[in-house]
Amino acid sequence: MPLLVQDRVWLALLIASLHCYYYVGKASTWAPITMCPLLTFSGPDGETTWPQKYPFCGGGFQSPIDLHNNILQYDSTLLPLELVGYNMSTTDQLPLTNNGHSVRVGLPPTMYIRNLPFQYTATQLHLHWGNRKKPEGSEHTIHGKHFAAELHIVHYNAEKYRDVTAAMDKSDGFAVLAIFIEIGPFNPSYEKIFSHFQNVKYKGQKAQVPGFNIQELLPKKLNEYYRYEGSLTTPPCYPSVLWTVFRHPVYISEEQLLALETALYCTRLDDPKPLEMVNNFRHVQEFEERLVYVSFHEGNVPCKHLKFCKSLKAKTSGVCFFPVFKDKMFQALNPSLWKYKPFPAIHTKKFKIKISSDILDCKELI
Ligand SMILES: [Zn+2]
Repeated sequence: MPLLVQDRVWLALLIASLHCYYYVGKASTWAPITMCPLLTFSGPDGETTWPQKYPFCGGGFQSPIDLHNNILQYDSTLLPLELVGYNMSTTDQLPLTNNGHSVRVGLPPTMYIRNLPFQYTATQLHLHWGNRKKPEGSEHTIHGKHFAAELHIVHYNAEKYRDVTAAMDKSDGFAVLAIFIEIGPFNPSYEKIFSHFQNVKYKGQKAQVPGFNIQELLPKKLNEYYRYEGSLTTPPCYPSVLWTVFRHPVYISEEQLLALETALYCTRLDDPKPLEMVNNFRHVQEFEERLVYVSFHEGNVPCKHLKFCKSLKAKTSGVCFFPVFKDKMFQALNPSLWKYKPFPAIHTKKFKIKISSDILDCKELI
């Protein structure tokens, strides 16, 4: 029976996705060898093949993205982030793990972000980077420019969902803080993690990092950032992330960056063909039907959705509609729908846009 076979394939993919998800979740509850064998960023199993096995990777609302002027919209309601519990005691121990595609520090539930639409509780942080010959490994880019590396601090919506697993496929499931890393002076705070790399060189190895003030890893200005709705940047690429990308980078020394680029391996200690852990960043994704909101003024920010408002061009104010289909996309999580096209390319919901006296400045009403 063809349908039955197809359903079984989808079920297998769903289970594979859940296993992989523990990369951002409670990895310690799973043996690393079962995780994400297909998760590589280049080669025959590279990111271009992800959609074949993880349909959301080929869908909408994907991350990372390039942050450039014609998708940006200033939003005066974006407040400085309030980080609670980030200042940890040195007697706390944080688990450090090489999971085969990044180096990850587990974070306690006492750390959370207070002033987002929900309370988002920390679960882990990890890094993305390039290689020693091309130290341009950030995931997000600004005007096409990569930074040397990027730190992600992953939080889940603990107000609505009981744990990371329950939050993972919900549109408001995650909030991730993204911090650009650039070459500059030696950074003693990052060294509190980097100094342990020798103990987690190979996949599956674990170490302990004494607690410190995690906020030291962030830029000083918590009030200047980009905000948009996107996805996990690794399979299963669920569009479940409220992204905050800080405007200003933090700096680490050339030697520290080199340690990040050369110390770690994707492979296990006993693997006869060791594989360096490099270039573990996803390339920027299409950015349609979305805006990036910015908390700071940066010149004249045009409204991307102006193309939907053409009929109103001659007016100085008015209302028009533009389509979104994120809610529809989540219906694809229902396996019974998966035998059809996973992301129905139909626009099911309309949002109002008010065009102010300056036609370049649009504002969402709903
Ligand atoms: Zn990441």
